[in-house]
Amino acid sequence: MSNLLQVHNSLSGKKEVFKSILPKHVGMYVCGPTVYSNVHLGNCRTFISFDLIYRYLIHLGYKVRYVRNITDVGHLENDSDEGEDRISKRARLESIEPMEIVQRYTLDFRRIMRLFNTLSPSIEPTASGHILEQIELIKKLVKNDYAYEINGSVYFDVKKFNQDIPYGKLSGRNIDELIHNSRALDGQNDKKNPQDFALWKKAEPIHIMRWPSPWSDGFPGWHLECTAMSRKYLGTKFDIHGGGMDLKFPHHECEIAQAEGIEKESPVNYWLHTNMLTLNGKKMAKSTGNNILPDEIFDGKNTFFKKAFSPMVIKFFMLQAHYRSMVDISEKALEASEKGYNRLLSALETIEKITPSSKTTGFDVISWKEKCYSSMNDDFNSPLLIGHLFDAVKFINSVKNKKKSISILDLETLKKSIHDFIYNVLGFRISKYSENDTKFEKNKEILELLLEVRNKARDKKDFEISDFIRESLIELKIELNDTGNGTNYEIK
Ligand SMILES: [Zn+2]
Repeated sequence: MSNLLQVHNSLSGKKEVFKSILPKHVGMYVCGPTVYSNVHLGNCRTFISFDLIYRYLIHLGYKVRYVRNITDVGHLENDSDEGEDRISKRARLESIEPMEIVQRYTLDFRRIMRLFNTLSPSIEPTASGHILEQIELIKKLVKNDYAYEINGSVYFDVKKFNQDIPYGKLSGRNIDELIHNSRALDGQNDKKNPQDFALWKKAEPIHIMRWPSPWSDGFPGWHLECTAMSRKYLGTKFDIHGGGMDLKFPHHECEIAQAEGIEKESPVNYWLHTNMLTLNGKKMAKSTGNNILPDEIFDGKNTFFKKAFSPMVIKFFMLQAHYRSMVDISEKALEASEKGYNRLLSALETIEKITPSSKTTGFDVISWKEKCYSSMNDDFNSPLLIGHLFDAVKFINSVKNKKKSISILDLETLKKSIHDFIYNVLGFRISKYSENDTKFEKNKEILELLLEVRNKARDKKDFEISDFIRESLIELKIELNDTGNGTNYEIK
């Protein structure tokens, strides 16, 4: 372990000492969600992990510009170059505007991120808001001979690029074995080679999301937006690029090729990737039904767990694993995390009541604090940090039981460090809705009872009572949302 921050760079496959391009400044880009459905728990883990990284860099005194995009166009089904745009498809199925889908799920994503107490990024740009920048990049790539136009669509020429600059550095794939999409799909024949990827796609007449370009009325390829937005807000070379492991290939590999096709040098110094979250030992997927939404865990209405778990317990559970390790969510694991989290919270209360003595016995506060920093400096090792926090909890409890003692100076250091790590670095929020699960549960039960009363009033067409309940709840910052499937509520 070292006193210098080390990060695991996916590009080298090694831990490296972190050195920012500009002293005390960090530029960090994280691939955000494609807003065509509710954010799933695996994605939440990615964003919670990067929130930990963001928070720790800030805690170390860096000024961080954190850019996390919203993908609102260009992400096609199966991550491929063919097929329907995920957002257009959802809009078509629901007979509404694509931008209504975007708005709905962007707001929902932000709401879930707030429940997990993650900090907002410095900039949250959208792909559809950066079409001009993407067109400019394509022009440059065409000029550099790394892209070609066929029938109004433009593709990146992977083979040609690979003759000058090696392709496949991040994912370790060999160009000869590379086949993006082996299935024969409409339009596949447009490409010179199957490993080429779309920079611009000509829109079919039914395609609603389209923009004019020198090549056709169409839309940008999925990989291009991140290159355009990271360059715009962080420059042609920046410190950290992150995302879920599943984005390494093709998405990030293509981003590297696009940027190198223009600048001839690597755009990013450190590539960081988070690992997967499984549910009851199996991959989460909507298609198999082995899938759970954050809200379904928070309200306990799901077929996997017998009880509800609060956002902070879920976050604690996730941070108990290293961001690069796989982690499996199960009822047993969550119950254990809930106990652990509550133990940590009660220690926060206990420490406030401790009376200091003339000296500290049985615990070295300074070396404990160093160990906490060493664990975070070791590639943001939150499970190790939490382990050290529990050492402190044990000590705090033995001081309370008069088995050990603490000096006033050590008590101040211990208190400040514990607060720093729990609130600022790990990002837990102690609020009346999440600190105490029993209270959280009770509040929810009462709220649900109130909703039932309101529904009964509405059934009897007693709108005076139902509106009174709705408006009174708004005053309490609880907003009701009546849908075809019942009434949802949101705590503002
Ligand atoms: Zn991206």
